[in-house]
Amino acid sequence: MPEGKIMKALSGFYYVKDEEKVIQCRGRGVFRKQKLTPLVGDYVEYQAENDQEGYILDLKSRKNELVRPPIANIDQAVLVFSAIEPDFSTSLLDRFLVLVESHDIDPVICISKMDLLNDAQTEKINRFAEDYRKIGYPVILSSAKWEDGMDQLKPWLEDQVTVFAGQSGVGKSSILNALNPALELKTDAISNSLGRGKHTTRHVELIGIGSGFVADTPGFSALEFTELEVDQLPLCFPEMVKASEDCKFRGCLHLNEPKCAVKEYVENGEIMEYRYQHYQQFHDEIKSRKPRY
Ligand code: GDP
Ligand code: ZN
Repeated sequence: MPEGKIMKALSGFYYVKDEEKVIQCRGRGVFRKQKLTPLVGDYVEYQAENDQEGYILDLKSRKNELVRPPIANIDQAVLVFSAIEPDFSTSLLDRFLVLVESHDIDPVICISKMDLLNDAQTEKINRFAEDYRKIGYPVILSSAKWEDGMDQLKPWLEDQVTVFAGQSGVGKSSILNALNPALELKTDAISNSLGRGKHTTRHVELIGIGSGFVADTPGFSALEFTELEVDQLPLCFPEMVKASEDCKFRGCLHLNEPKCAVKEYVENGEIMEYRYQHYQQFHDEIKSRKPRY
């Protein structure tokens, strides 16, 4: 049975790429009974009727999936945060990082609109960038207005399936357009803030940029921890995962436990205090979440 990957979903058709061919497929098969819907990014088995049309017969199991945008098997998320307008927020960044970590997606932090900063502001952003690099996260400082603004970002997209995510107005569409001008995404802060239809009529498609693929629509912009449990939360902070080897208790939540290495490292400055505070906030938020029935 030939296999391929869904690159685009549109009006009930799935466009399955198998090497150099793209076959327009309809869904059919066991996944229907399992109430599974094929997603862009899915690996599938298909049957070709001819060299252009066919049927999807089976879906391979997914590494992960997102609802918005509806994509499966995502390797990486570029988390776009503007340095200013809207102001850079470590609290929101940590929220995005937790969500991405919990889906087994690798984050790349991209701080945009660096062209709008004065020297003091640039220095402040540089310090945050260093904090996150120390944790192990790649941080790119960029501007869609710079000639070479995308040069640092491009190598990260090679061989990966990437989604872009971040608040409205941070510059995601501008970056996607700079990477691939054919996209012609609207970049309009005002229509954004009204929440009106920038992408409502668009369908998700994976587009090739170099040897990688990028979802052609900006992804999630707001987050709640609806699926995350409190004991998974510490696993979404890499520096705490590392430190927890030295905690006295296995499964230490780094809150009130004695001989907790994480708290020690926060005290001596090896772990950023604001990261730890966000951890505590997220913990409380998950704890007080209403149960779903
Ligand atoms: P999105 O909502 O995240 O897709 O953000 P947009 O790409 O629509 O950008 C929002 C606004 O910020 C637009 O007016 C852009 O022209 C502007 N913008 C985006 N990136 C930059 C940048 O790097 N520098 C400056 N000065 N403005 C930018
Ligand atoms: Zn601990």
